[in-house]
Amino acid sequence: MKRILITGGAGFIGSHLCERKLKEGHEVICLDNFFTGRRKNIEHLRQYPEFELVRHDITNPYLAEIDEIYNLACPASPVHYQYNAIKTIKTSILGATNMLGLAKRVKAKILQASTSEVYGDPIVHPQTEEYWGNVNPIGIRSCYDEGKRCAETLFMDFHRQHQIKIKIIRIFNTYGPNMHPNDGRVVSNFIMQALRGEDITIFGTGNQTRSFQYVDDLIEGMTRMMNTSDDFIGPVNIGNPNEFTMLELAQKVIDLTGTKSKMIFKPLPSDDPRQRQPDISLAKQKLNGWEPTIQLEEGLKKTILYFENEMKEGRV
Ligand code: NAD
Ligand code: UDP
Repeated sequence: MKRILITGGAGFIGSHLCERKLKEGHEVICLDNFFTGRRKNIEHLRQYPEFELVRHDITNPYLAEIDEIYNLACPASPVHYQYNAIKTIKTSILGATNMLGLAKRVKAKILQASTSEVYGDPIVHPQTEEYWGNVNPIGIRSCYDEGKRCAETLFMDFHRQHQIKIKIIRIFNTYGPNMHPNDGRVVSNFIMQALRGEDITIFGTGNQTRSFQYVDDLIEGMTRMMNTSDDFIGPVNIGNPNEFTMLELAQKVIDLTGTKSKMIFKPLPSDDPRQRQPDISLAKQKLNGWEPTIQLEEGLKKTILYFENEMKEGRV
């Protein structure tokens, strides 16, 4: 049994990870400042005596005796990370510094939830880990992209200078239950709009692409990465290579919900990446054949059910 610290544990991905680690029999400390996370996501985990919830902001140092850290704290939706851009970059950089300092002090292994955004608006397609990216350093997405890039640098430098055991995963667009209904990301937006019978908002022409991963596949990949040999530190892409345009995604949501909602077109936010698809050869090779098992239609059905239930229970 390990004692595991999960920052951002009350968020969408963090809550699934807390549950997985408790079910594996570990002790979990969930650290969150509740900026985008919700108590509701982790309420059902309170039944575990091994679960501890701490309200804490990772831009401040935190001390605890732990074996592993999963560093997930950071708003991930463009709407939320742009709301307070300075805070976002501080969360990535000061947060990573604090968590790496803690890992150094207690000799813990630490995993960074990095992102496909380190590739920016990619010119190389699909994206392999060797690609250095095409990121605007002064745009509205930079607080997130550059913060995450700098966090990767910090991880590598702590590893080189202090021999900290690190792991870096680059997560591609992930969706599923426990996403915030007003999160602003495309999957939750389209589903909520369809369920409410509102217009489905396509930004730009809708021909930009993303590759959507169901959350369970990510949790499996993340767990395998943490548990694999210490000399494989990444970065490694974790995502589903099946690529869709936003028009295709909207049509799927319309078909699966049976909504009468119509698509409407809104301006494309600046620096919105035109395409994104992970090359997952490295993950397959290093993580014991890991690959996504839940494809878009199945994952969307589960997510639609979740949001329908949230609406029924009056939580949305
Ligand atoms: P989320 O917004 O649901 O979760 C983030 C959590 O971090 C929230 O609970 C929030 O309250 C918490 N948090 C934010 N700032 C904090 C701070 N300063 N101190 C403590 N807690 C703080 O987002 P998510 O989708 O669950 O993303 C989790 C992580 O995975 C993020 O680091 C994100 O960058 C990364 N990621 C997610 C995706 C995706 O598609 N969901 C893709 C790439 C990377
Ligand atoms: N998008 C959209 N309508 C929405 C929300 C997003 O068309 O209501 C588009 C957005 O412009 C982007 C894609 O969907 O091209 C994915 O957006 P999201 O915010 O989910 O993630 P990211 O851009 O960070 O991949």
